Amino acid sequence: MKVRTILLATVAALATALPAVAQEKVLNLYSARHYQTDEALYANFTKATGITINRVDADDAGILARLKSEGTASPADVILLVDAARLWRAETDGLFQPVKSAVLEQRIPATLRGADAGQGSQWFGFSTRGRVIVYNKAGIKKDDVDTYEELGDPKNKGKVCTRSGSHPYNLSLFGAVMQHLGEPATESWLKGVVANMARAPKGGDTDQIKAVASGECQIAITNTYYLARMMRSANPDDRAVVEKVGVVFPNQATWGTHVNIAGAGMAKNAPHREAARQFLEYLSSDQAQAYFADGNNEWPAVASVRTANPALEALGKFKAETIPVAVTGMNQTKVQQMLDRVGYK
Ligand code: FE
Repeated sequence: MKVRTILLATVAALATALPAVAQEKVLNLYSARHYQTDEALYANFTKATGITINRVDADDAGILARLKSEGTASPADVILLVDAARLWRAETDGLFQPVKSAVLEQRIPATLRGADAGQGSQWFGFSTRGRVIVYNKAGIKKDDVDTYEELGDPKNKGKVCTRSGSHPYNLSLFGAVMQHLGEPATESWLKGVVANMARAPKGGDTDQIKAVASGECQIAITNTYYLARMMRSANPDDRAVVEKVGVVFPNQATWGTHVNIAGAGMAKNAPHREAARQFLEYLSSDQAQAYFADGNNEWPAVASVRTANPALEALGKFKAETIPVAVTGMNQTKVQQMLDRVGYK
């Protein structure tokens, strides 16, 4: 009996000692986000856990391409992407593994998480952004643009500009609209938006805001953080642009403004799974949430966390849609087919 107890104790001691020897204290992070506050975000994690973060920075497409070419030999532990449609794509491509975490389940709303087949979620949203309508205050009345539906209304003919319909931000918005309105109504709406365009789709969200300010078009769509960035810009030209445009959180009387996320999950072949789990949980902590959201002028995914961001405070509170963000990914193939049919480039 005594020998067995000692043996068990030895095995137990080895079992706890071995991983510490075998496992390096590192975390390989593939990140599509890179902001100044990230340095403090990552330094604090290392300080708290002793785990060093090796970062691979690229844009979303670059990270996905790299993961695919590395295959099972990929050293990635955590994959951080922007937009739920991209996270959903990575999930369906099998790039994540589920993470079961009471901390993450308690902190991150279920609507901001990836699929969960009982083993935990495939990914978690850590910040939110709204997709809002901006309009030229000199030419447009707010009442005429306070719903997404009105972007396709004939009264706004020749006034609308957008970035490419196939960009993930728009695919996600249109996927959300499809969830709210159904397929036939969404396709005829998209047809209306194309008919209302002031110019062929081009540029990014910031270019649309500038085009509205210059009068090249009157109405556009943008993610909130691009607006907030211009509102906080040290460049007077940016602030002059912002002063010419009105901002509306669409669909406040109905299903709410479309909200998307930046988020992360554990890589399928993560060599440092425990470190990856710790990092994901860390991202949901009060302190990390504040850094993560503020770095890109976004809102924390954890509702109780408050940030002091003057631009977001100026934009004010709004009613957000409550559908799971993952539907934006699920609907994107159908949305792309609609875009092809209605000629939305
Ligand atoms: Fe962006």
